[in-house]
Amino acid sequence: MSREVMEYDVVIVGGGPSGLSTAIKLKQLNPDINVCLLEKASEIGAHILSGNVFETRALDELFPNWKELNAPIQTKVSKEKFLFLGKEKSLSWPTWLLPKVQQNHKNYIISLANLCRWLAEQAEALGVEIFPGFPASEILYHDDGSVKGVATQDMGLDKEGNKKDSFEPGMELHAKVTVFAEGCRGHLGKELIKKFDLSKGKDPQQYGIGFKEIWEVNEKNHEEGLVMHTAGWPLDKNTYGGSFVYHAQNKQVYLGYVIGLDYQNPHLSPFDEFQRFKTHTAIKKMLEGGKRISYGARALIEGGLQSLPKMYMPGALLIGCDAGTLNMPKIKGSHTAMKSGMIAAEAIIDHIKESKKPLCL
Ligand SMILES: Cc1cc2nc3c(=O)[nH]c(=O)nc-3n(C[C@H](O)[C@H](O)[C@H](O)COP(=O)(O)OP(=O)(O)OC[C@H]3O[C@@H](n4cnc5c(N)ncnc54)[C@H](O)[C@@H]3O)c2cc1C
Repeated sequence: MSREVMEYDVVIVGGGPSGLSTAIKLKQLNPDINVCLLEKASEIGAHILSGNVFETRALDELFPNWKELNAPIQTKVSKEKFLFLGKEKSLSWPTWLLPKVQQNHKNYIISLANLCRWLAEQAEALGVEIFPGFPASEILYHDDGSVKGVATQDMGLDKEGNKKDSFEPGMELHAKVTVFAEGCRGHLGKELIKKFDLSKGKDPQQYGIGFKEIWEVNEKNHEEGLVMHTAGWPLDKNTYGGSFVYHAQNKQVYLGYVIGLDYQNPHLSPFDEFQRFKTHTAIKKMLEGGKRISYGARALIEGGLQSLPKMYMPGALLIGCDAGTLNMPKIKGSHTAMKSGMIAAEAIIDHIKESKKPLCL
C-alpha cells in the first residue's frame, strides 16, 4: 500500500508543553526551518489534564513578554497549606517548614490545556504546521537503523481492522530529526527506549497514577490563589501518595490525588481512595453545594534524574515526560518538559549549522 510522503526538517510527535516549546524555539532560532507537529487529540489541549501549579521559569525564557502576549496565566499563588489527614482530624503543617522545592509562592495556578492552546497559537504564528487529530502510530527507520520519521494511523478501519468505505491510509512524515514528546509512557517512546537501549545503566523507571477533577464551588468556600496539599488518610503509611487542591479563577477548584503505582496492597483501588479522600471533613465542607465540571486521569513518570534515559539516538530525540523529566519532589513537570524541548531545539539548530547532511544525533 503506497502512502503519501511529506518531508520536513523536524517532525514533532505530541502537542504538550514539551513538543510545543521545541517547535517555538526552533522557529525563534531559525525562521526558515520547516517544522511539523502531530497531536493525536482532536485539538491541542484536549488530552492535557487541566489544572496545574505552574513555575514560569521556562516560559520566562521562551517568551519574556508572555504577560503582554496575554498568556492564560493570571492566578498567582497567594496562600499555601499543608495538611496531615487522620481519619477524622487534620493537622496543619506550617509551610515554611516544608523543603524549598515544595514551596509555591512564586508560582501560578493555571489550566495547562489553555496554556498549550496559547502556545500552539504562538507556534502557528511563527509558521509551525500543526496537525491535530493525527496520532503518530509507527516509527520509520532508514536502512542504517536511524530514525527516518513517523507514519500516522490509517483511518476508516472497523473493529477487526478491515477497511471501510471511508478508509484512508496514514501519511509518512520524513524528517532530518524526529522529536518524540508523547508524554508519560508514550507508546513510540517505549519502542525507542527498547530499540536503542536508552535506559542502559539507569535505575528502573517509576510511575504513579494521578486523578484530577475540576469543581465549581460555592463562593464562600473559594479562596482564589490557595494551594493546598495533603498527606496521610486514606492511604496507609506504606503507600506513597497525596492530594492537591488548587483554587483557580471563577470559583473553580482543581482537586486531585496521586498514588505511586508500587503500592503493595493488591486490593487498593487508587480511584476509590481518591473518592474516599473527598469525604474527609476538611475536604467535604469545601465541596458542599458545588458541582464537578470535568475529570480525568493520567499516568505520571516519577523516577527522576537517576531513571532518565539517554535522550538522543540516531535521527531522533526523546523529550519531556516521554523521557521522564518530571521533578517529583516539586510535583511539577510542565516547566521541565518545556525546558527539555527548548534544549532539544538548540541542539537541532546547532547540528543543522554544523552539517548539511541529514542529521545523525
Ligand atoms: C494529575 C497530574 C497533576 C499534575 N500537576 C502538575 C502541576 O501542578 N504542575 C506541573 O508543573 N506539572 C504537573 N503535572 C505534570 C505535567 O502535566 C507533565 O509533566 C507535563 O504535562 C509533561 O509535558 P509533555 O509535553 O512532556 O507531555 P504531555 O503534557 O503529556 O503531552 C503529550 C501530548 O502528546 C500527545 N500524544 C501522545 N502520543 C501521541 C502520538 N503517538 N501522536 C500524536 N500525539 C501524541 C498527547 O495527546 C499530549 O497532548 C501533573 C500531571 C498529572 C498527571
